[in-house]
Amino acid sequence: MNVLVVEDERNLADAIVHILEAASCRAEACYDGRAGLRAALSGAYDAIVLDVMLPGMDGREVVHELRRKSVSTPVLLLTARTSTEDKVEGLDAGADDYMTKPFEAPELLARLRALTRRKGDVMLDEVAFADVRLDLTTHDLSCGDRSVHLSGKEFEVMSILMASSSRVVSKQDLLSRVWGASEASENSVEAYVSFLRKKLAHIGSKVQITTLRMLGYRLEVFSE
Ligand code: CA
Repeated sequence: MNVLVVEDERNLADAIVHILEAASCRAEACYDGRAGLRAALSGAYDAIVLDVMLPGMDGREVVHELRRKSVSTPVLLLTARTSTEDKVEGLDAGADDYMTKPFEAPELLARLRALTRRKGDVMLDEVAFADVRLDLTTHDLSCGDRSVHLSGKEFEVMSILMASSSRVVSKQDLLSRVWGASEASENSVEAYVSFLRKKLAHIGSKVQITTLRMLGYRLEVFSE
């Protein structure tokens, strides 16, 4: 699943890209309306997250222009306001759904799932790496017919590792993406990685979380 994010608040745009990447999507950000429209017109995206208030060209104009040019990519509008008028105008212009800022990551993913499902895709429900699958709705990690439920933090750590495929993810990166600005330390990351290792072994997966000294973690596949 390939998502375009058009949002001029760079921190928010980058945060949305991270959320999507952690759910194994590809995501790219544009920071103004015209650049967003140009990218969206390529038709290369499965969904577009589009802010309403944008410099250059606002979100409603972007979606109107897309529909006028027969680009039917599902659009999720982001609005900072709760005014009904904003939503109605956005939906009238051709957006498929809207979401009011601020929002939580699961809500964003759920809405994108709904939009893309309507289109007939069933992506975003599950991510896979080698012999393991992670269900993004139930948080079950499975291998063959064995599965185990992951707690909230275990799920977040595992989905980031799986989204990174075989690339190394640093402890610091996991700490900031999963625990944010809380008091957690790198010990928390180590503890959750150790829970996940036990769970991977429990379901009989060949996937292991390897520690690379000073660098971080990555998923590797070990054959017997
Ligand atoms: Ca904005």
